[in-house]
Amino acid sequence: MGDPGGGVNDQEPLAEYRAKRHFHATPEPAGRPPEPSTPPADGRRFVVQRHRATRLHYDLRLEMDGVLVSWAVPKGPSLDPSARRLAVHVEDHPLEYFDFEGVIPKGEYGGGDVIVWDWGTWTPAPGTGDPAAAVAAGELHADLRGEKLAGRFVFIRRGRRAAAASGSSDKEQWLLFHKRDDDAVNGWDPEGHPRSVKSGRTNEEVAADPDAMWSSDAPAAEASIDLRRAVRSWEAPTHDELAALDALGAAGSWELGGTTVALTNLDKVLFPGTDAEAAVTKRDLVRYYACAAPFLLPYLADRPLNLQRFPNGVDQPGFWHKQVPDWAPEWLVRWHNPEVDPGETDCYVVADRPASLAWLANYGAIELNPWTSTVASMHQPTWAYIDIDPGPRSTFEDVLVLARLHRTAFEHLGVAAGPKVTGKRGIQIWVPVAQGWSFDQSRAWVEKLSKAIGATVPELVSWAWRKDERDGRIRLDYTQNAINRTLVAPFSARPAAGAPVSMPIRWEELDDPDLAPGRWTIRTALDRVGTEGDPLQPLIGRQQHLPEL
Ligand code: MN
Repeated sequence: MGDPGGGVNDQEPLAEYRAKRHFHATPEPAGRPPEPSTPPADGRRFVVQRHRATRLHYDLRLEMDGVLVSWAVPKGPSLDPSARRLAVHVEDHPLEYFDFEGVIPKGEYGGGDVIVWDWGTWTPAPGTGDPAAAVAAGELHADLRGEKLAGRFVFIRRGRRAAAASGSSDKEQWLLFHKRDDDAVNGWDPEGHPRSVKSGRTNEEVAADPDAMWSSDAPAAEASIDLRRAVRSWEAPTHDELAALDALGAAGSWELGGTTVALTNLDKVLFPGTDAEAAVTKRDLVRYYACAAPFLLPYLADRPLNLQRFPNGVDQPGFWHKQVPDWAPEWLVRWHNPEVDPGETDCYVVADRPASLAWLANYGAIELNPWTSTVASMHQPTWAYIDIDPGPRSTFEDVLVLARLHRTAFEHLGVAAGPKVTGKRGIQIWVPVAQGWSFDQSRAWVEKLSKAIGATVPELVSWAWRKDERDGRIRLDYTQNAINRTLVAPFSARPAAGAPVSMPIRWEELDDPDLAPGRWTIRTALDRVGTEGDPLQPLIGRQQHLPEL
């Protein structure tokens, strides 16, 4: 992703790496300690990463000849000279991994979370000669100078016995211990020093809100995906950029936030006009989605997208579409589902910048439906949904009765949640969920809540699975709380005349006599959010532990 390219520079082996670090540098989000600079790149560096994979371990890596020579130490390195640690010699890692901190997707090799537990420089003990040769010979003495570790560590190969923990049969088992020198500390336990030297965060904190993701399937230079990178580019188009869009003919290239998007058939009508308003063209939709980026992208970031496409306009039948076409531009971020079954979509769009939204609009993707889980943790929902889905006989007043009952329940439970109108007929309520819950748990929680609430107004609600058995009544659809089941994103357009938008509202607005599910359209949504803000926004990423019901 965005690899600036270029080969290894023989004069300065780390030049490429340093360039990459600059390339990926992002402003630090507020509320975090500033990121310290990495240790100096002159001399040899070492890093220890605390890695919660299938089993917790510490990966101790020494920079040697352009790679990170690595040992996995289940109990972690210690300054205590009496602590003799098993260290499994694992494959060399690329230098790009040196300061990686973030998550590795479940299902990939090493899936879990990683922090930079310590870093610094190291030198081979005097008389060692070539350290790579010493490793090959099975004994290395190394002096470490880090923020936690210091002094002389000894690595000795013990044998080539099966390492049951890693599941591999050919991993070498080594012994790691600290010499009795001035840096030795009796009783020193690495678990007593749990925070990252890079961010000050613990593994738990990084897992809950990762800055980066490592995809081991990709080449090293592209494997680290900066989950924060998009933040700085979630800006609406400038006046000049919008003028350039208006100046394009029926097709052309649009430069938006540094990315060039090819646009086609810009004057095609996608939404027929109404008595009150002119038809909405594809150019209008592209403009709306680009301008909505600062509000919309926070709901889409790091999530696979399911699309409802209407390439010939909303008065023609549309269809669900997920697979990214082969001809999509290279800059479009894709996610490959590691658990794909034959015949299923394997490559999804992840929208990370305004240009992604412009591309999607151009593609006729009118409705954007992000997953409730992220690519880093596809089996863990970050939102639970309540979908108040009216039947043909339901009125919007019926929908409001259900929504208000949910409001009362959330107040009493002390649960933070936010409603939004769908843009069509219903109301949905989004509930942020702390990391760690499965979809089975979120679905069971919503089912319990909705059944209790629905039971108070049995005349309005049907639990029948089949539409024709619901007698036209409202369905409280808890079954959408499942992987790859989605609801329309806040600020997404809906496929209906006038181009309505699904709009987050404040709870009090349920009592506003002017509230209507299709009250806002792509022509008015930006004014609305410009004056009222997005009441759902504070709930994005909230680590909310839902109470037992
Ligand atoms: Mn590891």
